[in-house]
Amino acid sequence: MSRATITWLAGPVARARTREPFRLREAVRVGTRELPGEVVRMDTGEIVVQIFEDTTGLRPGDAIEGTGQPLGIRLGPALLGGIFDGLMRSLDTAGGACAFEFVPEARAGEALAAGSAFGQARAAGAAPGRAQSCLVPPGAGGEVTWIAAPGEYADDAIVAKLRGADGRPIELAMSHFWPVRTPRPVAERLASDEPLVTGQRLLDSFFPVALGGKAAIPGGFGTGKTVLLEALAKACNADVIVYLGCGERGNEMAGVLDEFPRLEDPRTGRPLRERTVVIANTSNMPVAAREASIYTAVTVAEYFRDQGLAVALMADSTSRWAEALREVSGRLGELPGEGAYPTYLSSRIADFYERAAKVRTLGGAVGSVTLLGSVSPPSGDFSEPVTSHTRRYVRSFWALDTRRAQARFYPAVDPLQSYAEEADAMAAWWQRVYSELPAGARRAASGANEWLELRRRFLTLLEDQARLERMARIIGKDALPASQRLALFCADLLNDAVLRQSAFSPVDRYAGPKRQAAMMRLVAHFIEQAEAALARGVAPERIAAMAVVRPIARMGEEVAEGELERFAALEARMESEFAALEAGEAARAA
Ligand code: ADP
Ligand code: MG
Repeated sequence: MSRATITWLAGPVARARTREPFRLREAVRVGTRELPGEVVRMDTGEIVVQIFEDTTGLRPGDAIEGTGQPLGIRLGPALLGGIFDGLMRSLDTAGGACAFEFVPEARAGEALAAGSAFGQARAAGAAPGRAQSCLVPPGAGGEVTWIAAPGEYADDAIVAKLRGADGRPIELAMSHFWPVRTPRPVAERLASDEPLVTGQRLLDSFFPVALGGKAAIPGGFGTGKTVLLEALAKACNADVIVYLGCGERGNEMAGVLDEFPRLEDPRTGRPLRERTVVIANTSNMPVAAREASIYTAVTVAEYFRDQGLAVALMADSTSRWAEALREVSGRLGELPGEGAYPTYLSSRIADFYERAAKVRTLGGAVGSVTLLGSVSPPSGDFSEPVTSHTRRYVRSFWALDTRRAQARFYPAVDPLQSYAEEADAMAAWWQRVYSELPAGARRAASGANEWLELRRRFLTLLEDQARLERMARIIGKDALPASQRLALFCADLLNDAVLRQSAFSPVDRYAGPKRQAAMMRLVAHFIEQAEAALARGVAPERIAAMAVVRPIARMGEEVAEGELERFAALEARMESEFAALEAGEAARAA
């Protein structure tokens, strides 16, 4: 292997003299401790490497040795349920499974293409994990010459042999190596017309992200980015979750690390941890490893996608990743761009989000990687470089607002700053949900697509609210005409009844699509009845004082998942209260 000699060191970066061939992005081992590193720049007679571990004790004169391979990780059955650092070294003190039950699914003589499954693996021992496909790695493939009998093997033991197209032998284990900075190839990228169901009304019903889509969650300190991403990691309908804690304080990840082993996946009843891979690169870990961890995480996500699964990757926070990029770039003496970030910040953010997709895999299955990245702009200023560049590459933008968070209105997603460019593509999916609501629930909209219509109406109402509140501050609320006072009240009700949702409420932390639809309908129906009452002369203040208002505002807490018929009862109560109100008004007028 090629060798070089360190001539200069600064934090995680070293320059080294060499006469031997290295490659850009080659993984290296540095010094007597063989610290992992990567070649990031090459000049004649010199390489520059970044080092992924603490470099104290390293000195000029120490040796760097090439590995001949790009920076990469092993992908295999040992990932699910594990906790790893940014280079996928296990952080699990209990130690994950090292032996796996292998069940062959191919026979000698059979031809296997790249990306197809040749067997199943599951953790051996007392608590067998779920079955995972063993894939022929991209670039490999050929005729099976031998395959192991069912049994227990280490994940890197040879369990199949192929003869490649050129006659060369290929040996396969349950796990395989993949360079993290290279996207795994797919047969085809597919359009997505299906949302990732997050269980958050404000996201699913207002600003959905497609399965295979990409969303950014920008928000100042304490606005709820971590709580939201963790809530999504627990409840969203992906098959596999890759949770990347990137540069945040260690205790920020406590929720994921302590809670996940104990929680159950509500859909399968299996431990949540079984569908989760946690990658922790907290602020006390070396900065270069943080830069690499985002590629590691997305590579792991693509690996499960290639098994035909829907994968969601939560990265908290991409700003800390960008800061790592900035620090390494500074040490390299590169010319700084905006905010002292390197000039390639934008293209690196693009490269990351580009890896989100719904695809047909090489093996012919359909899988997806949905990317959700939090952004922590200093002092909540969305015009700073990381937020503004991220905005160019995501399709859903969930802006967390400091004022909403200070008012303890959670999730603090600001409906006026947030958007979802793929909402129209999700409309048919939502239409099916609305059409499956129990009979009796009144359809609230006459348009072709009830969800699109309600969403548009509600977003308009929220915009009106902002405008009317500005006006009320100037002229006083009582000076507004009755219709505008009613609009303000209806907007408050919409906020309390639908948008507000506590991540810590046992009943309301997850709202399935049907419950969301029922609540949207009920509020729309209330607003229609209120407007009709107003037209018949009922004052907005009397509508606001109706007894049914409070149960509607609290229905997220009071009507649990699977109790949809209780919405019909609430609706009936609402109708009779409106009838009484109007009868009273008529009597008064007479
Ligand atoms: P950030 O990661 O943006 O700095 P956190 O996610 O740590 O902020 O949230 C800060 C605090 O706000 C939490 O400890 C919690 O008390 C509250 N909070 C945030 N989001 C929610 C939510 N969805 N439901 C209830 N409380 C929340
Ligand atoms: Mg946080």
